[in-house]
Amino acid sequence: LLIRGPQGIGKLALARALANALLCESPGPDGAACGTCVACGWTGQGNHPDFRMLEPPALSVPEDDAAAADKRERGAAQIPVEQARALSELISVSSHRGGARIVLIHPAESLNVHAANALLKNLEEPPPRMYFLLVSHRWHHLLPTIKSRCQQLALPLPPAAVAGAWLRRQGVPDAELALAQAGGAPLMAAAFDDDYWKQRGEFLDAISRKGFDALALAERLRDQPPGRVLGWLQRWAFDLALHAATGKVGYNPDRTKALAAASGNVGLLGAVRFLRHVVRLQRVVHHPLNPRLFLEDLLLGYAALLKGERPIQAF
Ligand SMILES: [Zn+2]
Repeated sequence: LLIRGPQGIGKLALARALANALLCESPGPDGAACGTCVACGWTGQGNHPDFRMLEPPALSVPEDDAAAADKRERGAAQIPVEQARALSELISVSSHRGGARIVLIHPAESLNVHAANALLKNLEEPPPRMYFLLVSHRWHHLLPTIKSRCQQLALPLPPAAVAGAWLRRQGVPDAELALAQAGGAPLMAAAFDDDYWKQRGEFLDAISRKGFDALALAERLRDQPPGRVLGWLQRWAFDLALHAATGKVGYNPDRTKALAAASGNVGLLGAVRFLRHVVRLQRVVHHPLNPRLFLEDLLLGYAALLKGERPIQAF
């Protein structure tokens, strides 16, 4: 089963709930895991013998570990073939508990080509009661040979009212703004912390100032992950284009005034061109040769746009 949809809407949580339900030894009338049987005890502790999780090594390190964050940005972002090969033990012996066996793969697009090939035969002809749950937000990057062997479950963004109500119950202070910033994905909205909002606010203040100094700003941002800064600027560029075309903004409703001013300045064509430039940079942001130069290029490009010049395209 390929569970696909936008990032930050709870696909992994759904896959885990489904895995727990399949492994549970006395599921409720609706099929959900009971939470109290032996199997549920094991899944709760993450050590059920009939369950395997395949994910890139970088995902299993803590978010706040700087060295690990560096590793996460630079590599270890793929599921290595050894993980896929290690499944043969799970597949060749029969189920420990006589029930289902589950392999959860997240995110499935991080399977490298060797790992994917090692899985193909089992995806095609899984042993009885063996389930492969693949979770993906960039499913167009999946190998066609993988995709064609899966049943696909496409999950949409939840309606804004439902997501907003859920965020308020989680205690998110400005649920509407957080949801807008996350493009409507509630789990992503809930994950933005105080530091995120503070840094984003300072960044948007800086680029909204007339004649802002791109190099000084790049210097101030040197400790921020380049991907985060690029994300802010991508949302900003999208809103510039949207405002130029429709008079509305999407991601940054708290900055409508500054967006209107900048959008009038750069125009629809300039905004779209810059957005395309930023989107292209997304492909290299996780392995920039030099993060400092990357940020300088990005911000010089935006400063040039405000002056009516075409963005620099060094990368
Ligand atoms: Zn149970």
